[in-house]
Amino acid sequence: MRILVTNDDGIYSPGIASLAKVARRFGEVRVVAPDVEQSSMGHAITASRPLSYKKSPITFESIDAYRVNGTPADCVALGTHLWAKTDLVLSGINMGPNLGNSMWHSGTLAAAKQAVLLGIKGIAFSTFAGKTEPDFETLEPYVEKALALLLENSKLSLYNVNLPPNPIGMQWTRQSVRLYDGKVVPGIDPMGRKHYWFTVIPLEPAEEGTDRWATEHGYVSITPLRLDLTNEEELTKVSSQQPVS
Ligand code: MN
Repeated sequence: MRILVTNDDGIYSPGIASLAKVARRFGEVRVVAPDVEQSSMGHAITASRPLSYKKSPITFESIDAYRVNGTPADCVALGTHLWAKTDLVLSGINMGPNLGNSMWHSGTLAAAKQAVLLGIKGIAFSTFAGKTEPDFETLEPYVEKALALLLENSKLSLYNVNLPPNPIGMQWTRQSVRLYDGKVVPGIDPMGRKHYWFTVIPLEPAEEGTDRWATEHGYVSITPLRLDLTNEEELTKVSSQQPVS
């Protein structure tokens, strides 16, 4: 099995080294990742300039690694084009969670989505990064368990996996959509000028069964996702009330 590993934190992130290390137990691994951090770039692609694809001097335990001057979605499009035929795309391990509505901004998840758009299974991994670096050695057995579980099902799928710092188990979850954690926070720059951060700040506890609830309670959250954004309920309602002729 050919496994392409990417991320949105950039090729130098310790998270991608950890994911590549675990992925290697499942098949042949190649790392293709952004040359600089691309967090919160969502599913952006670079359409207005060409991309470069350069062998990285970084060696992930003798895994081939390439850096791209583009977004996570670019890395997947280019990486899978140049490595036919990629069977699986893994993204992460992101240095920050991608839960609830922050999934919309996530470059980590976008890489997995890009894989699915291209007909390849895509799985995103994220964890919490506080003032200290995540303890990847503690997380790796859970990354391996989650991968084994998700690869059992050979159907083309998209999954979002979030790991709390010290997991006590794993849970299937749904996306928490009740609250949005994006906030504009004002500040003052060193010159005394007002500026703003549009950032994600922690929310109140979430409802049971959701991705946020699971990680708050120490469980690895695994959310199966789909690309179809159609609001089925609304469509049924409007099409019965106002048929388009
Ligand atoms: Mn990131």
